[in-house]
Amino acid sequence: MKIVDARTAVIEGNFDWVLVKLYTDEGITGLGEAYGGTGVVELIERMKPALVGESIFDVGKIFEKLVRETSDEGSLAGTTVTAISGIELALWDAVGRALNTPICNLFGGKFRDEIRVYADCHAGDEYTPQSYAEKARAVVDKGYAAIKFDLDVPNPHTRDVSGPEYPDRWWHQPYNRTISSRERDFMEALVAATREAVGPDVMLAMDCHWKYNVNDALKLARALEGYDLLWLEDPVPPENVDALAKVSSGTSISICTGENLYRKHGYRELIEKQAADIVSPDVPKMGGLLEAKKVADQADTYYIPIAPHNVASPIGTVAAAHVCAAMSNFLVMEFHAMEVEWWDDLVEGGPVISDGFIRLREDPGHGLVLNEDVARAHLKSGTTFFGER
Ligand code: MG
Repeated sequence: MKIVDARTAVIEGNFDWVLVKLYTDEGITGLGEAYGGTGVVELIERMKPALVGESIFDVGKIFEKLVRETSDEGSLAGTTVTAISGIELALWDAVGRALNTPICNLFGGKFRDEIRVYADCHAGDEYTPQSYAEKARAVVDKGYAAIKFDLDVPNPHTRDVSGPEYPDRWWHQPYNRTISSRERDFMEALVAATREAVGPDVMLAMDCHWKYNVNDALKLARALEGYDLLWLEDPVPPENVDALAKVSSGTSISICTGENLYRKHGYRELIEKQAADIVSPDVPKMGGLLEAKKVADQADTYYIPIAPHNVASPIGTVAAAHVCAAMSNFLVMEFHAMEVEWWDDLVEGGPVISDGFIRLREDPGHGLVLNEDVARAHLKSGTTFFGER
Protein backbone atom coordinates (compact mmCIF):
# COMPACT_ATOMS: atom_id res chain seq x y z
CA MET A 1 0.00 0.00 0.00
CA LYS A 2 1.85 3.06 -1.29
CA ILE A 3 1.73 6.69 -0.18
CA VAL A 4 0.47 8.97 -2.95
CA ASP A 5 0.10 12.31 -1.16
CA ALA A 6 0.59 14.17 2.13
CA ARG A 7 -1.41 17.26 3.10
CA THR A 8 -1.84 19.42 6.20
CA ALA A 9 -4.49 21.45 8.01
CA VAL A 10 -3.53 23.80 10.84
CA ILE A 11 -6.19 24.12 13.53
CA GLU A 12 -6.01 27.11 15.84
CA GLY A 13 -6.57 25.96 19.40
CA ASN A 14 -4.58 27.21 22.38
CA PHE A 15 -1.62 25.96 20.30
CA ASP A 16 -1.40 25.46 16.54
CA TRP A 17 -2.37 21.84 15.90
CA VAL A 18 -0.74 20.73 12.65
CA LEU A 19 -2.81 17.85 11.31
CA VAL A 20 -1.12 15.65 8.70
CA LYS A 21 -3.08 13.44 6.31
CA LEU A 22 -1.44 10.71 4.25
CA TYR A 23 -3.23 9.28 1.22
CA THR A 24 -2.57 5.81 -0.23
CA ASP A 25 -3.14 4.16 -3.60
CA GLU A 26 -5.76 1.89 -1.99
CA GLY A 27 -7.94 4.66 -0.61
CA ILE A 28 -6.92 4.27 3.04
CA THR A 29 -5.78 7.47 4.73
CA GLY A 30 -3.89 8.11 7.94
CA LEU A 31 -4.33 11.19 10.12
CA GLY A 32 -1.51 12.39 12.37
CA GLU A 33 -0.50 15.54 14.18
CA ALA A 34 2.71 17.48 14.69
CA TYR A 35 3.44 19.98 17.46
CA GLY A 36 2.97 23.46 16.01
CA GLY A 37 6.56 24.62 15.59
CA THR A 38 7.56 27.39 13.20
CA GLY A 39 7.89 26.11 9.64
CA VAL A 40 6.51 22.63 10.33
CA VAL A 41 3.90 22.84 7.55
CA GLU A 42 6.51 23.93 5.00
CA LEU A 43 8.86 21.16 6.13
CA ILE A 44 6.15 18.51 5.66
CA GLU A 45 5.45 19.90 2.18
CA ARG A 46 9.16 19.64 1.40
CA MET A 47 9.26 16.00 2.59
CA LYS A 48 6.43 14.92 0.31
CA PRO A 49 8.63 13.73 -2.62
CA ALA A 50 10.49 11.41 -0.21
CA LEU A 51 7.19 9.91 0.96
CA VAL A 52 5.41 9.31 -2.32
CA GLY A 53 5.83 5.70 -3.47
CA GLU A 54 6.87 4.35 -0.05
CA SER A 55 4.89 1.54 1.59
CA ILE A 56 2.95 2.71 4.67
CA PHE A 57 4.17 -0.41 6.49
CA ASP A 58 7.83 0.66 6.39
CA VAL A 59 7.42 3.23 9.17
CA GLY A 60 10.89 2.79 10.67
CA LYS A 61 12.58 2.99 7.29
CA ILE A 62 10.60 6.08 6.27
CA PHE A 63 11.49 7.75 9.58
CA GLU A 64 15.21 7.14 9.06
CA LYS A 65 14.97 8.18 5.40
CA LEU A 66 13.40 11.52 6.34
CA VAL A 67 15.99 12.06 9.07
CA ARG A 68 18.86 11.36 6.66
CA GLU A 69 17.46 13.42 3.79
CA THR A 70 16.79 16.47 5.96
CA SER A 71 19.96 16.43 8.04
CA ASP A 72 22.78 16.04 5.49
CA GLU A 73 23.65 12.89 7.46
CA GLY A 74 24.27 15.00 10.59
CA SER A 75 22.36 14.95 13.82
CA LEU A 76 18.82 16.23 13.73
CA ALA A 77 16.61 17.96 16.25
CA GLY A 78 14.03 20.73 16.40
CA THR A 79 11.18 21.48 14.01
CA THR A 80 12.39 19.08 11.34
CA VAL A 81 11.94 16.18 13.77
CA THR A 82 8.58 17.66 14.73
CA ALA A 83 7.49 17.63 11.07
CA ILE A 84 8.59 14.00 10.77
CA SER A 85 6.65 13.22 13.96
CA GLY A 86 3.39 14.36 12.36
CA ILE A 87 4.03 12.12 9.36
CA GLU A 88 4.98 9.23 11.65
CA LEU A 89 1.71 9.48 13.63
CA ALA A 90 -0.26 9.51 10.36
CA LEU A 91 1.65 6.43 9.16
CA TRP A 92 0.73 4.42 12.27
CA ASP A 93 -2.92 5.44 11.88
CA ALA A 94 -2.85 4.28 8.25
CA VAL A 95 -1.13 1.00 9.20
CA GLY A 96 -3.71 0.34 11.91
CA ARG A 97 -6.57 1.02 9.52
CA ALA A 98 -4.98 -1.15 6.81
CA LEU A 99 -4.59 -4.06 9.26
CA ASN A 100 -7.92 -3.32 10.99
CA THR A 101 -6.32 -3.09 14.43
CA PRO A 102 -5.77 -0.34 17.03
CA ILE A 103 -2.32 1.30 17.10
CA CYS A 104 -1.56 -0.08 20.59
CA ASN A 105 -1.59 -3.61 19.13
CA LEU A 106 1.31 -2.61 16.88
CA PHE A 107 3.49 -1.72 19.88
CA GLY A 108 3.24 -4.90 21.90
CA GLY A 109 -0.33 -4.55 23.12
CA LYS A 110 -1.89 -2.89 26.12
CA PHE A 111 -0.77 -2.84 29.72
CA ARG A 112 -3.95 -0.83 30.43
CA ASP A 113 -7.20 0.18 28.71
CA GLU A 114 -7.42 3.56 30.42
CA ILE A 115 -4.76 6.23 30.08
CA ARG A 116 -4.67 8.62 33.01
CA VAL A 117 -4.25 12.27 32.03
CA TYR A 118 -3.30 15.16 34.26
CA ALA A 119 -4.85 18.57 33.78
CA ASP A 120 -2.46 21.44 33.26
CA CYS A 121 -3.98 24.24 35.35
CA HIS A 122 -3.70 27.99 35.20
CA ALA A 123 -4.95 29.83 38.24
CA GLY A 124 -6.40 32.71 36.22
CA ASP A 125 -5.44 36.38 36.26
CA GLU A 126 -4.19 36.27 39.83
CA TYR A 127 -1.44 34.10 41.20
CA THR A 128 -2.23 33.65 44.85
CA PRO A 129 -2.50 30.68 47.20
CA GLN A 130 -6.27 31.24 47.21
CA SER A 131 -6.57 31.31 43.39
CA TYR A 132 -4.49 28.11 43.16
CA ALA A 133 -6.66 26.39 45.75
CA GLU A 134 -9.91 27.41 44.02
CA LYS A 135 -8.72 26.34 40.58
CA ALA A 136 -7.39 23.03 41.93
CA ARG A 137 -10.71 22.25 43.60
CA ALA A 138 -12.67 23.11 40.43
CA VAL A 139 -10.51 20.84 38.27
CA VAL A 140 -10.63 17.93 40.70
CA ASP A 141 -14.42 18.35 40.79
CA LYS A 142 -14.39 17.71 37.03
CA GLY A 143 -12.96 14.26 37.70
CA TYR A 144 -9.21 14.80 37.36
CA ALA A 145 -7.13 12.97 39.95
CA ALA A 146 -3.86 14.41 38.63
CA ILE A 147 -3.10 18.10 38.12
CA LYS A 148 -0.18 20.42 37.44
CA PHE A 149 0.41 24.10 38.15
CA ASP A 150 3.20 26.55 37.30
CA LEU A 151 5.49 27.76 40.09
CA ASP A 152 7.47 30.33 38.08
CA VAL A 153 4.56 32.75 38.07
CA PRO A 154 4.70 36.48 38.95
CA ASN A 155 5.96 36.52 42.51
CA PRO A 156 5.49 39.59 44.74
CA HIS A 157 8.90 39.01 46.32
CA THR A 158 11.02 38.66 43.18
CA ARG A 159 14.20 40.69 43.54
CA ASP A 160 16.31 39.15 40.78
CA VAL A 161 16.46 41.84 38.10
CA SER A 162 19.70 40.60 36.59
CA GLY A 163 18.20 40.10 33.17
CA PRO A 164 15.61 41.76 30.96
CA GLU A 165 12.11 41.80 32.41
CA TYR A 166 8.99 40.89 30.49
CA PRO A 167 6.21 42.10 32.75
CA ASP A 168 3.44 40.92 30.42
CA ARG A 169 5.13 37.67 29.50
CA TRP A 170 6.48 36.29 32.74
CA TRP A 171 7.20 32.92 31.21
CA HIS A 172 9.90 34.59 29.10
CA GLN A 173 11.87 35.67 32.15
CA PRO A 174 15.58 34.87 31.83
CA TYR A 175 16.94 31.49 32.88
CA ASN A 176 19.31 30.87 35.77
CA ARG A 177 17.54 33.20 38.21
CA THR A 178 18.00 33.35 41.94
CA ILE A 179 15.16 32.67 44.39
CA SER A 180 15.07 34.82 47.54
CA SER A 181 13.84 33.22 50.73
CA ARG A 182 10.66 35.35 50.65
CA GLU A 183 10.08 34.36 47.04
CA ARG A 184 10.55 30.72 47.98
CA ASP A 185 8.14 31.10 50.90
CA PHE A 186 5.52 32.42 48.47
CA MET A 187 6.05 29.48 46.13
CA GLU A 188 5.74 27.10 49.07
CA ALA A 189 2.49 28.85 50.04
CA LEU A 190 1.12 28.21 46.52
CA VAL A 191 1.96 24.52 46.85
CA ALA A 192 0.67 24.25 50.41
CA ALA A 193 -2.68 25.84 49.52
CA THR A 194 -3.09 23.59 46.49
CA ARG A 195 -2.28 20.42 48.41
CA GLU A 196 -4.57 21.50 51.23
CA ALA A 197 -7.40 22.13 48.73
CA VAL A 198 -7.22 18.75 46.98
CA GLY A 199 -6.22 16.49 49.85
CA PRO A 200 -3.65 13.70 49.86
CA ASP A 201 -5.10 11.50 47.10
CA VAL A 202 -4.68 13.82 44.11
CA MET A 203 -1.46 13.64 42.12
CA LEU A 204 0.04 17.15 42.14
CA ALA A 205 2.96 18.28 39.98
CA MET A 206 4.63 21.69 39.70
CA ASP A 207 6.46 23.20 36.71
CA CYS A 208 9.36 25.72 36.87
CA HIS A 209 10.06 26.13 33.11
CA TRP A 210 13.88 25.98 33.41
CA LYS A 211 14.13 29.19 35.44
CA TYR A 212 16.50 28.77 38.39
CA ASN A 213 20.13 28.27 39.31
CA VAL A 214 21.17 24.91 40.75
CA ASN A 215 21.50 25.85 44.41
CA ASP A 216 18.28 27.85 44.61
CA ALA A 217 16.42 25.12 42.72
CA LEU A 218 17.71 22.65 45.31
CA LYS A 219 16.59 24.86 48.20
CA LEU A 220 13.17 25.19 46.57
CA ALA A 221 12.85 21.44 46.03
CA ARG A 222 13.81 20.71 49.64
CA ALA A 223 11.30 23.29 50.91
CA LEU A 224 8.57 21.44 48.98
CA GLU A 225 9.48 17.93 50.13
CA GLY A 226 6.65 17.76 52.66
CA TYR A 227 3.84 18.21 50.11
CA ASP A 228 4.01 14.83 48.38
CA LEU A 229 4.50 16.29 44.89
CA LEU A 230 4.27 13.90 41.97
CA TRP A 231 7.20 15.84 40.48
CA LEU A 232 8.95 19.16 40.19
CA GLU A 233 9.44 19.93 36.49
CA ASP A 234 12.38 21.65 34.81
CA PRO A 235 13.84 23.45 37.86
CA VAL A 236 17.09 24.46 36.07
CA PRO A 237 17.98 25.47 32.48
CA PRO A 238 17.84 22.63 29.95
CA GLU A 239 21.29 22.35 28.42
CA ASN A 240 23.38 20.81 31.21
CA VAL A 241 22.46 17.28 32.26
CA ASP A 242 25.08 17.22 35.05
CA ALA A 243 23.59 20.33 36.66
CA LEU A 244 20.14 18.72 36.58
CA ALA A 245 21.60 15.54 38.06
CA LYS A 246 22.92 17.55 41.00
CA VAL A 247 19.40 18.84 41.71
CA SER A 248 17.82 15.40 41.30
CA SER A 249 20.30 13.69 43.60
CA GLY A 250 19.97 16.40 46.26
CA THR A 251 16.24 16.17 46.92
CA SER A 252 13.67 13.49 47.65
CA ILE A 253 11.24 15.16 45.20
CA SER A 254 11.08 13.51 41.78
CA ILE A 255 12.51 15.77 39.08
CA CYS A 256 10.82 15.61 35.65
CA THR A 257 12.15 16.85 32.29
CA GLY A 258 12.15 15.99 28.59
CA GLU A 259 9.54 18.02 26.67
CA ASN A 260 12.13 19.74 24.46
CA LEU A 261 14.36 16.78 23.65
CA TYR A 262 14.31 15.06 20.25
CA ARG A 263 14.70 11.48 19.03
CA LYS A 264 16.00 8.67 21.21
CA HIS A 265 19.49 10.15 21.11
CA GLY A 266 18.30 13.34 22.80
CA TYR A 267 17.28 11.37 25.91
CA ARG A 268 20.26 9.03 26.18
CA GLU A 269 22.54 11.09 28.43
CA LEU A 270 19.63 12.19 30.63
CA ILE A 271 18.60 8.58 31.23
CA GLU A 272 22.07 7.08 31.52
CA LYS A 273 23.10 9.68 34.12
CA GLN A 274 19.75 9.26 35.89
CA ALA A 275 19.54 13.05 35.92
CA ALA A 276 15.74 12.96 36.06
CA ASP A 277 13.39 10.71 38.02
CA ILE A 278 10.57 11.02 35.45
CA VAL A 279 10.94 11.63 31.70
CA SER A 280 8.36 13.61 29.69
CA PRO A 281 8.72 13.17 25.91
CA ASP A 282 6.31 15.17 23.75
CA VAL A 283 5.29 12.45 21.30
CA PRO A 284 4.12 14.57 18.30
CA LYS A 285 7.26 16.70 18.70
CA MET A 286 10.18 14.42 19.62
CA GLY A 287 9.95 11.87 16.80
CA GLY A 288 6.62 10.09 17.12
CA LEU A 289 5.23 6.87 18.56
CA LEU A 290 8.06 4.43 17.80
CA GLU A 291 10.75 6.87 18.95
CA ALA A 292 8.81 7.56 22.18
CA LYS A 293 8.51 3.81 22.81
CA LYS A 294 12.28 3.45 22.39
CA VAL A 295 12.86 6.25 24.93
CA ALA A 296 10.37 4.61 27.31
CA ASP A 297 12.14 1.28 26.99
CA GLN A 298 15.55 2.81 27.71
CA ALA A 299 14.09 4.68 30.69
CA ASP A 300 12.54 1.44 31.91
CA THR A 301 15.96 -0.17 32.17
CA TYR A 302 16.77 2.52 34.78
CA TYR A 303 13.33 2.14 36.46
CA ILE A 304 12.34 5.64 35.31
CA PRO A 305 8.63 6.26 34.56
CA ILE A 306 7.31 8.14 31.52
CA ALA A 307 4.87 11.07 31.77
CA PRO A 308 4.43 12.48 28.25
CA HIS A 309 4.19 16.24 27.80
CA ASN A 310 1.22 16.99 25.52
CA VAL A 311 -0.43 20.11 24.11
CA ALA A 312 -2.05 18.36 21.13
CA SER A 313 -5.56 18.16 19.72
CA PRO A 314 -7.48 14.89 20.27
CA ILE A 315 -5.65 13.40 17.25
CA GLY A 316 -2.13 13.71 18.66
CA THR A 317 -3.34 13.05 22.20
CA VAL A 318 -5.11 9.77 21.45
CA ALA A 319 -2.35 8.57 19.09
CA ALA A 320 0.10 9.15 21.96
CA ALA A 321 -2.29 7.41 24.36
CA HIS A 322 -2.07 4.26 22.23
CA VAL A 323 1.69 4.04 22.68
CA CYS A 324 1.32 4.96 26.37
CA ALA A 325 -0.95 1.93 26.71
CA ALA A 326 1.92 -0.21 25.45
CA MET A 327 4.55 1.27 27.82
CA SER A 328 5.08 -0.79 30.97
CA ASN A 329 6.51 2.30 32.70
CA PHE A 330 3.78 4.80 31.76
CA LEU A 331 2.76 7.10 34.63
CA VAL A 332 0.39 9.84 33.38
CA MET A 333 -0.01 12.03 30.26
CA GLU A 334 -0.67 15.75 30.04
CA PHE A 335 -3.92 17.40 28.91
CA HIS A 336 -3.31 21.08 28.23
CA ALA A 337 -6.55 22.31 26.64
CA MET A 338 -9.07 22.68 29.47
CA GLU A 339 -9.72 26.24 28.29
CA VAL A 340 -10.60 25.06 24.75
CA GLU A 341 -14.29 24.22 25.06
CA TRP A 342 -14.50 22.62 21.59
CA TRP A 343 -11.44 20.36 22.08
CA ASP A 344 -13.54 17.18 22.29
CA ASP A 345 -15.80 18.34 19.45
CA LEU A 346 -12.91 18.30 16.99
CA VAL A 347 -13.57 14.56 16.59
CA GLU A 348 -16.74 12.51 16.19
CA GLY A 349 -18.09 10.16 18.81
CA GLY A 350 -18.30 11.97 22.13
CA PRO A 351 -15.77 13.06 24.74
CA VAL A 352 -12.20 11.83 24.37
CA ILE A 353 -11.44 12.34 28.06
CA SER A 354 -13.86 11.49 30.82
CA ASP A 355 -13.21 11.47 34.56
CA GLY A 356 -9.55 12.16 33.89
CA PHE A 357 -8.96 9.14 31.65
CA ILE A 358 -8.78 8.36 27.93
CA ARG A 359 -10.49 5.02 27.38
CA LEU A 360 -9.03 3.41 24.29
CA ARG A 361 -11.50 2.02 21.79
CA GLU A 362 -11.11 -1.07 19.65
CA ASP A 363 -11.44 0.87 16.37
CA PRO A 364 -8.52 0.57 13.93
CA GLY A 365 -5.69 3.10 13.95
CA HIS A 366 -6.14 5.74 16.63
CA GLY A 367 -9.85 5.29 16.07
CA LEU A 368 -10.71 8.98 15.65
CA VAL A 369 -12.66 10.65 12.85
CA LEU A 370 -12.16 14.38 12.41
CA ASN A 371 -15.29 16.54 12.69
CA GLU A 372 -14.64 18.55 9.54
CA ASP A 373 -17.14 21.32 10.36
CA VAL A 374 -15.47 22.05 13.70
CA ALA A 375 -12.00 21.73 12.17
CA ARG A 376 -12.84 24.12 9.33
CA ALA A 377 -14.37 26.61 11.76
CA HIS A 378 -11.02 26.84 13.55
CA LEU A 379 -8.73 26.60 10.54
CA LYS A 380 -5.76 28.95 10.84
CA SER A 381 -6.15 31.83 8.44
CA GLY A 382 -3.84 31.71 5.42
CA THR A 383 -3.69 27.89 5.48
CA THR A 384 -5.63 25.24 3.57
CA PHE A 385 -7.82 22.39 4.80
CA PHE A 386 -5.77 19.46 3.46
CA GLY A 387 -5.17 21.38 0.24
CA GLU A 388 -8.72 22.76 -0.11
CA ARG A 389 -9.42 26.46 0.15
MG1 MG B 1 6.72 21.86 31.28
